[in-house]
Amino acid sequence: TAVRPGGDVIDDLGLSPVALAVLSERYLLRDDSGSLRETPGQMMDRVAVAVAHAEDDYRPGASHGYAERFATVLRAREFLPNSPTLMNAGTSLGVLSGCYVLPIEDSLESIFDTLRTTALLHRAGAGTGFSFSRLRRRGSATSGGGVASGPVSFIELYDAASQVIRLGGRRRGANMAVLDVHHPDIEEFLRAKSDTGALPTFNLSVGVTDDFLHAAAQGRSHRLIDPATGRLVRELPARELFAQIAENAWRTGEPGLLFLDTVNRANPVPELGRLQATNPCGEVPLSAFESCTLGSVNLARFLDGDGLDEVRLAEVVRLGVRFLDDVLDVSVHPVPALAEAARATRKIGLGVMGVAEMLAALGLPYDSPAAVRYVSGLMARISRWAHAASRELAAERGPFPLYPHSRWVTSAPMRNAQVTSIAPTGTISLIAGTSAGIEPFYAIAYTRHVLGRDFDHFEPLLRERARAHGAWSPTLEAEISASGTVSDCAGLPESLRRSFVTAHEIDPRWHIRMQAAVQRHTDAAVAKTINLPATADVATMREVFRQAWQAGVKGITVYRDDTRPEQVLRCPESC
Ligand code: UDP
Repeated sequence: TAVRPGGDVIDDLGLSPVALAVLSERYLLRDDSGSLRETPGQMMDRVAVAVAHAEDDYRPGASHGYAERFATVLRAREFLPNSPTLMNAGTSLGVLSGCYVLPIEDSLESIFDTLRTTALLHRAGAGTGFSFSRLRRRGSATSGGGVASGPVSFIELYDAASQVIRLGGRRRGANMAVLDVHHPDIEEFLRAKSDTGALPTFNLSVGVTDDFLHAAAQGRSHRLIDPATGRLVRELPARELFAQIAENAWRTGEPGLLFLDTVNRANPVPELGRLQATNPCGEVPLSAFESCTLGSVNLARFLDGDGLDEVRLAEVVRLGVRFLDDVLDVSVHPVPALAEAARATRKIGLGVMGVAEMLAALGLPYDSPAAVRYVSGLMARISRWAHAASRELAAERGPFPLYPHSRWVTSAPMRNAQVTSIAPTGTISLIAGTSAGIEPFYAIAYTRHVLGRDFDHFEPLLRERARAHGAWSPTLEAEISASGTVSDCAGLPESLRRSFVTAHEIDPRWHIRMQAAVQRHTDAAVAKTINLPATADVATMREVFRQAWQAGVKGITVYRDDTRPEQVLRCPESC
């Protein structure tokens, strides 16, 4: 049985109250009467068995042993796949990938075909990203003798549909809209989220090119071109447009930037065309119809004395790559084009979570050269192990079909065109009980608003380390709970105050340095929010955008504290 006689879910994995609440309300299977049919541990077993099924196609009878190995790492929360896999594996909803990129051509047929596919994917909890750059500009002619309403009107249409589906779903399908900086409607796009609560299902990114950013830096002009006709519509100073982008991002946290040339320099299969969009949180640039199956290793689970147990970590990375490659085989996609695209490149995204917890445990302040160096070296090794695992699979199962046309062709065959990606791990890090992705601690004490309720969080590692230093007291806990941070805590040793540094205390330059260090060793992209204090000015925002471009990251998301009313995490008072 999955529930206690009183009704609440049985915790067979030692989870936090918020993880239990999220799992029981959104993830665990229920029977027709609405009663829970599984415990969290049984959910992990269901996922392990369903995914290991793929193994039998390569070696009959192999699934049993792999189901056990998968279940062991999932139950230990050393590795977790993205939410749709946890929710849907072994059920009739076969969508297991976290995210898709879908094409939008300049026709009503394409717009509504893709809207339909979007609806089917959101129903299963997957996210979708689109480039709206091909749509003709607002005000131009349509074949019916009418006037085109432009990309932003269609983003609104997609948003409305997504909101309706979200009401019936267990998880919010999220969207990303990219608009190329050369599109004549770019200024309307920049302002599309400036009203409070506008386009709640969308993240917006401006697709910027090196030529635009150079023009902005050098004070040259920038051309807006109608994609339907290729004609020049207007010229304006690049610097003015760049300032508008920064101004909007400063005010509302939107839009972010997608560095299109950086992304395309790393395109693993250029033959599929130029990459124009990413999934909702930006960590996976994809071609039209492609999807990404994500999974993350929980670094905090591999802490061992003054470092990590890298022998075990390498094993779990290897098993994680195999798990994700298996997920590709057991996934069912609602539209044939999605299945074909997934099969052609077999892109997966193995990433990490728990970086902040790991760094704090190792006594490395996030905003220090030592931390950036450590994470960079670690990510290089993880990437090497992950690529080696994909090569082993290629030897066993054959390379991905487009391998001869990929940039991997000069090296040994790969099973997957893309192997690594750093997801935000918004929910799976909650389930794993660690810090999200490569983000620093948001705060040491904070309130998380989820499922319509408030859950208080107090960083357990800090409590443990303070105790070990003999520095713990109820007064200290009250002090930290009130401020959210430990940097001014006279009662704590300096080393702890430094290594438990929080997002808003970290200079944006360190956020960017960490993102760039991880990006260098990641095939796809890195989900990361550059947090700015509420007091940061617009000039800082412009500077952050410039630095991000120069640092070679593929995209950037900024968030200035308190700029959105629906903020999920909130510090107590002052942090
Ligand atoms: N995603 C989504 N809806 C959400 C959160 C995430 O569609 O509410 C998608 C989105 O494409 C995102 C990806 O899932 O980029 C991975 O997000 P995250 O790692 O936070 O998901 P988790 O697996 O932790 O739920």
